[in-house]
Order: sequence, then structure tokens, then C-alpha cells
Amino acid sequence: MRLPHTMQAITVTEVGSFEFGRREVRLPEPGEVLIRVTVTGLCRTDLKIIRDGHRDLILPRIPGEEVVGRIVAVGAGVSGIAIGQRVYVYPGQWCGECQACRSGAENLCRAMRIMGFHRDGGFAGFVTVPAQSVILLPDALSDEIAVFAEPLSCCLNALELARIAPGDRLGIWGAGPAGTLLARGGAAKGAVPTLIDSDPRRAERCGGLTSPPKDLFDVCVIAVGAASAYDQALQALAPRGRLVVFSGLPRDGGHIPADFNTLHYLEQTVVGAYGCCYRHGQEALAMLASGSLHVADMISHRMPLAELGQALELVAARESMKIHLYPTEES
Ligand SMILES: [Zn+2]
Repeated sequence: MRLPHTMQAITVTEVGSFEFGRREVRLPEPGEVLIRVTVTGLCRTDLKIIRDGHRDLILPRIPGEEVVGRIVAVGAGVSGIAIGQRVYVYPGQWCGECQACRSGAENLCRAMRIMGFHRDGGFAGFVTVPAQSVILLPDALSDEIAVFAEPLSCCLNALELARIAPGDRLGIWGAGPAGTLLARGGAAKGAVPTLIDSDPRRAERCGGLTSPPKDLFDVCVIAVGAASAYDQALQALAPRGRLVVFSGLPRDGGHIPADFNTLHYLEQTVVGAYGCCYRHGQEALAMLASGSLHVADMISHRMPLAELGQALELVAARESMKIHLYPTEES
């Protein structure tokens, strides 16, 4: 395939708006590979970074941190990756030397560069990424299932930090795509999930509840940016329970009163979870490939990249589950 000089791309130059147009294709430098994007997933974080900005966002930027595609060019010094291979992209680039990296938490690398935040992402026909970040796809795994590996990886990180164990009662606040993947990931690890969402439409769709049950949970995960969910989850946490701070809160809503004496007497843990490590990408792809976790029914919309505006409206209105975007480059 001859590489084109330009590609379709979504560019955010200032918070609150984006442009759809042509951008130059950046050829891979040493240690990088160029990927032709086949599918990119849209998540609530994309809505947040485009409309409100994000702590880690550096502008101007092509967003998109959920990417599957095919290798079309390989930079100098790259081994083990060949043109034509289908790959999933772990969205992080890490140093491998700092304390976080050495402890196996490269998502917290002090030099972390996230695709779609610090460097250009997958809302484009092509994306250039470090060879370090790609994971080859097994033949049996389709692109549109494989792209779930990114949101699922973040859920696996949260479940790992929650020390989830078989038989654990798992309460998840927020029945959107992340909450649903947390529930399915937890179930795959032997936990018993309950989804709680104050929106009756969402709760009903997943067989969840609109308010917490009387029984306590061993693990509570907050997958919705609402302070009320944290209040409810703290009330619903069992002795020795673990509360996972999975979703951030609006900038002015991040202070929630918690009774530290309750944490003390009930030996409860509060733990944050942000992003995912490379190994979570491998684990997620293995789960998706083995069929131990099904996601195909979660795709509610397949849209061309050019329709990002409508797609964001669906996410904002909570009208969608998972939206997949497809660049439509001519080959
Ligand atoms: Zn590091």
C-alpha cells in the first residue's frame, strides 16, 4: 500500500470545540510504528476532554485512546512487528525506569505520555505510536471486539486494586459502558456484581437497581462522576470492604465528607484507579479472545469518524452504550 500524505482527523485546538479535516500523516521515527486505524472507540472521557478539557490534555491534539488497526510502516530499530499485522494499542508510553514503572504501575509513570492526551490519538485515518505500546491481535479476535481491550483494561486495573476475589459481592455505580465492563470483568473473576444507576432506563437495560440494596458489598466501584454515588457506596461498604475511586468528579465536586472512624473500625480501604498497565491490555485481549467475557452486544452505534459531533451528543445524553467510529480513508 502506498502511504497517503494526508488523512482524515479530528483536531481539538481549544477546549469546547473540534474540527474535522485533513492532517498530515506523520511517518514513524525510530522506535515507532504507523498504524492505519480500522476502528476507534468513543468513551465518556473523549466527551470530557473535548468539552471541558482534562488534567493530562495538551493542545492542539487529535483525541482517541481506544485504537485497533493494521501496521503500515515501521520505524528504524523496531523488531518483532511487521507491516500488515493487526494490533491493539496500549495508550501509554512509559519510561521503564521511574519508581512507578519499576513497581509495575507504568500507568503512573512520572513521564507518562497518553495517546489522545499528550500525543495524537486514533480519531484519524492513521496514528503513529511507539512500538513499545502495540500488542499483536490473535487471528480469531475481530477488530471491533479487540478495541474493547482499552476500556476493559482500565476495569481490570480497578478490579485488581480492589483485590477482587471469587464470591465477592461487587457493587458498581454507573451502568454505562465502563460500569457494564466492570460488572462483566468482575463476574469473569468469580465476583457477584450488582449495577446501580439512578437513571431507570440504564438500570433496567442491564438488570440493575436504581438505588443500593440493603445488603453490603465487599467491593464498591464508582463508575459515574457523581458525589451522591460516593455517599451511597460508603454507606453500602461491608467491613473490610474496598471502595474504588474509578471515575473522577467535576472540578468543584471532588470533596466528599468521609468518616475516617468508620474506615478505622470497619477496616475499610479506599483506593483510586486511573488508566491501566500494558499487562492489563494483554489480559483484556486474552479474555476477549477466549470468550470468557462477551462484549458484542454492547456496541450500540457504528458511525463514520466524520459524525463525531452526533456521536458526542449521544454520549452526552446517555443515549448510547459503546460507540465505534470508523475512519473512511480511501485505500
Ligand atoms: Zn516511568
